[in-house]
Amino acid sequence: MAETMTKATDIPGLSKNAVTVLEKRYLKRDTGGNVLETPVDMFQRVARSIAEADKNFDKKADVKALAAQFYELMTSFEFLPNSPTLMNAGRELGQLSACFVLPVGDSMEDIFDAVKYTALIHKSGGGTGFSFSRLRPAHDVVRSTSGISSGPISFMRVFDAATETIKQGGTRRGANMGILRVDHPDIMDFIMCKDDQKHLNNFNISVGLTEAFMEAVERDADYDLINPRDGKPCGTLNARKVFSRIVKQAWKNGEPGIIFLDRLNKDNPTPHVGVIESTNPCGEQPLLPYESCNLGSINLGKMVKNGDVNWDRLRDVVRLAVHFLDNVIEVNNYPLPQISEMTRANRKIGLGVMGWADMLILLGIPYNSPQAISLGEKVMRFINDEGHVYSRELAAVRGSFPNFAGSIYDRASEGPIRNATVTTIAPTGTISIIANASSGVEPLFAVSFIRQVLDKNILVEVNPIFEEVARQRGFYSEELMQKIARHGTIHDLPEIPEDIRKIFVTAHDITPEDHIEMQAAFQKYTDNAVSKTVNFPNSAAIEDVEKVYRLAYKSGCKGVTIYRDGSRDEQVLSTGVKE
Ligand code: ADP
Repeated sequence: MAETMTKATDIPGLSKNAVTVLEKRYLKRDTGGNVLETPVDMFQRVARSIAEADKNFDKKADVKALAAQFYELMTSFEFLPNSPTLMNAGRELGQLSACFVLPVGDSMEDIFDAVKYTALIHKSGGGTGFSFSRLRPAHDVVRSTSGISSGPISFMRVFDAATETIKQGGTRRGANMGILRVDHPDIMDFIMCKDDQKHLNNFNISVGLTEAFMEAVERDADYDLINPRDGKPCGTLNARKVFSRIVKQAWKNGEPGIIFLDRLNKDNPTPHVGVIESTNPCGEQPLLPYESCNLGSINLGKMVKNGDVNWDRLRDVVRLAVHFLDNVIEVNNYPLPQISEMTRANRKIGLGVMGWADMLILLGIPYNSPQAISLGEKVMRFINDEGHVYSRELAAVRGSFPNFAGSIYDRASEGPIRNATVTTIAPTGTISIIANASSGVEPLFAVSFIRQVLDKNILVEVNPIFEEVARQRGFYSEELMQKIARHGTIHDLPEIPEDIRKIFVTAHDITPEDHIEMQAAFQKYTDNAVSKTVNFPNSAAIEDVEKVYRLAYKSGCKGVTIYRDGSRDEQVLSTGVKE
């Protein structure tokens, strides 16, 4: 049996938290639960397995050399693929994607097929998104039984229960996105369906808003509800009242979020293949029914050299990362033939970033500043452009994605490209812990905080860059770090130098508008969507949330998720704990 402890020298920079997370969920185990591989073994397993795909295109490809490059890329924490790739590459299961969308049709057969497919996907560590908009409303007629239908929300409970059961034995908790169009007759019940925080805990929910609805909100007009069974109008609601209810619930406990369906479809790269009706669980990846996507994130904190962005290294990392993610599509073991077919035909990948807040700190730029917004645009534009360049180079050797003819690239008379989408900003909830980086494009949650990991463990964590700076500048002490964790922010702590307080801004030091502006900056140069939580202080008013929802719409975001501090019974991250 391999030694379970990894020595710090094996992978410099692998933190204690990272080792804990890896040992708990990622490393291979025998049937008795004993860990069989070290983190070094894991990264080698992943690197070798993904590099192997090059042989599909060139029998003589130097797979060993590529594996060494991939290994170096991951263990330097410059780039990590999404969790299922780390967990499953080179292993029997071999399911490597984080994101799936499944169709839910309006029949018992279709609904329970989807439940079964969900179970298979969750077992392998993937998350699922669904639109329930095709289901006829509650109390509608069911001809075959002369009965009445129970409606989308009651069927969502079946998916929820299945998820709950699978999570006992699976690698991850299991996560779902449930979407209902705003013109579905059951929309008011949907908006309220998580009100008691007792039901549907394995779902994130979002209302699918249309342009017609948003216009009706502007005009304070009524809009039609449509019964999906026959496509006919079956009532009206006042748009502003529905919008206010969504906002009020989001203020109350963070849900529902909203997604702008028409905007997602405007950017649908393959409209000739299907309509986008849902995203994955965290909202960053719109997909067609039966499509899956694998994500990967560049750690921007590692892309700083001599006080500037290391553009040359960033370009190399983007190219290697796109190569890596395109290879993942090749070696992936898909849970269903339909998913295999759809995914291979569009070949969507989602390259994004983590460590954005770290990069800003290293450059001395406050997150809530105009420089940060313009640098965000510049960095993401660079990644998007270089990613597309490389995807085109791949297409020259490997061919376009098979659905290219009729795609937006084809219509714009652009040349072949290997991947229908290249960029996505994922939350990087776990891989950022492995990389010891700030997550996604979020500001630091806190410079010192209490984290609840994987259900039970509680850790007090100090941001590594803050700790280093505090030691260098001579104000580090255990007591101070604990004080900060309890206090929640450093902006009013006189024992910390003023310049440090400005740069180490945290999620609650910045305004909701700052959050949205940053989301919009990254969205501008991202093919898919951006995962971002807009944090509000507990004292925020309902009107503040409304303002931000409208701002997100106006500034080109594809959706919004908000969270008002302390508004849910359980919170993954917490600061400012009362003494
Ligand atoms: P990670 O850091 O583990 O790679 P992210 O936090 O970036 O994952 O989430 C990316 C996507 O992975 C989510 O939008 C969702 O589709 C999927 N996902 C995340 N957590 C889970 C989970 N517990 N169960 C199933 N899928 C998940």
